[in-house]
Amino acid sequence: MTGMEALKDKAARTTEHFDVLIVGAGISGVAAGRHLNQQCPDRDYAILEVQESFGGTWLTHKYPGIRSDSDLHTFGYSFKPWVGPPIATAEEIRKYMGEVIEENDLARRIRYRHRIDAAYWSTPDKQWALEVTRLDTGETLRFTCNFLWMAQGYYRHSDGYTPEWPGMKDFKGLIKHPQTWDPDFDYTGMRVVVIGSGATAATVVPAMADRAAHVTMLQRSPTYFRTGRNAIEIAEELRKLQIDEHWIHEIVRKKILYEQAQFSKRTFEEPDKVKQELLDNVRHYLGPDYDIDTHFTPKYRPWRQRLAFIPDADLFKGIASGKASVVTDHIERFVENGILLKSGKVLEADLIVTATGFNMNVMGDIAFAIDGKPLNWADTVTYRGMMFTGVPNLAWVFGYFRASWTLRSDLIGDFVCKMLNHMKSKGVAQVTPQLRAEDHNMPLLPFIDGDNFNPGYLTRALPILPKRGDKPEWMHNQDYWAEKDEIPATNLDDAAFAYA
Ligand SMILES: Cc1cc2nc3c(=O)[nH]c(=O)nc-3n(C[C@H](O)[C@H](O)[C@H](O)COP(=O)(O)OP(=O)(O)OC[C@H]3O[C@@H](n4cnc5c(N)ncnc54)[C@H](O)[C@@H]3O)c2cc1C
Repeated sequence: MTGMEALKDKAARTTEHFDVLIVGAGISGVAAGRHLNQQCPDRDYAILEVQESFGGTWLTHKYPGIRSDSDLHTFGYSFKPWVGPPIATAEEIRKYMGEVIEENDLARRIRYRHRIDAAYWSTPDKQWALEVTRLDTGETLRFTCNFLWMAQGYYRHSDGYTPEWPGMKDFKGLIKHPQTWDPDFDYTGMRVVVIGSGATAATVVPAMADRAAHVTMLQRSPTYFRTGRNAIEIAEELRKLQIDEHWIHEIVRKKILYEQAQFSKRTFEEPDKVKQELLDNVRHYLGPDYDIDTHFTPKYRPWRQRLAFIPDADLFKGIASGKASVVTDHIERFVENGILLKSGKVLEADLIVTATGFNMNVMGDIAFAIDGKPLNWADTVTYRGMMFTGVPNLAWVFGYFRASWTLRSDLIGDFVCKMLNHMKSKGVAQVTPQLRAEDHNMPLLPFIDGDNFNPGYLTRALPILPKRGDKPEWMHNQDYWAEKDEIPATNLDDAAFAYA
């Protein structure tokens, strides 16, 4: 029995049909709804979300200090001005998203506590059938849709990634991952070791430093950080002049994007100079005697991994005050009272926070099948990181790492709406990306180019991710400046799209 037949077999259940179903009510899913309202107002759609509310990343994460690491002028939507400081807390981001939901009448579209478990495409029916569990009632529901808009993010929300270290069971204290943090947990007076060196560790360490006895950031290798005041001067100036917030938003976005492009270019053209500037900034806060070489000088060139911004230098101020410290070493094993390092030193701890990243999941852990055949994403080739060969009527939102994620949600939103309207005007019900005659000898490569960008969670997930080719249309690009022109210019009648 095919997946579609199995669903049809559950005859007692009613099926709800929508033109479009959006998976996830994070920043991308909400953007997708707004795009449909504006550009495809005749389409009926719903947003299905497994959690109890909207926000995605900004709802899931409740660890001390949780905040964005990129500015909200570009992380926020193009259509709604961001009027707060550029680096925002999760609460501030959710408040902003709540306003967007209200202003665009999206609340009635969102179904919370709806977990999509399986999605089956049927070519005879030219539609997707979804198997959905309603968590508040335990019911299995059935939805069908013509187009599936995957805005489910890139990592498993239910648990974070914690490596297995020897001796973890011997440790007598507590081990917690930031992704599953209970905001009521009291760590007052505890000796805390935070394992990790990314944006999460850099946020947690200063945020916990006041209440904890001491916080140690334990890293295997250092990361680059940028720092500065949590304010944008030009926005402050324009506000003094009482310029309209929409104008300020647009100007500040343009300025930030321009500066980011210049910065990114410089990391390729003069990496040593950029590196020195970043390190001088750290030196400024930590003083001449601090061992910057060991703790803050990465071996890779700047921008090969996401570069976190530290607002108001709080991490460095915490270290300078003595409330926090950094240890760069390798873990030998966990012991009863803390962590034994390769150097032979023991870091004593009551609480170990594993800021060790995410479990990437492909398409929200949903079991996909096409005409009864289970779909292995690694057998597909990505069309610009948005659609996939052999997978009809489905778009995937995967944002930028080097620029704000949302800039790409926006470009994809325009693309999907344009595609839906194009299909309508052609009178077709199905679009499937396919390799063209000229693409058949194209080398098929891992989803991302590890020499260009190589965070651990992506590298770990490469075997289950779609493949990329060596032409721009078959790659998942991380270059906003190229894509902002290329994606809108897509020829929807190109042979890369098969219509039926
Ligand atoms: C702590 C943290 C900080 C970050 N900071 C930044 C930043 O400053 N700037 C930046 O650009 N990026 C940042 N990122 C990356 C960030 O995840 C994205 O920018 C963005 O929030 C992702 O939004 P999204 O809506 O695409 O996905 P998510 O926020 O992951 O939301 C996806 C939603 O889909 C739901 N979902 C998933 N699977 C299913 C299913 N099977 N059924 C139903 N619902 C499902 C999830 O519950 C979730 O609510 C950060 C990430 C983390 C973890």
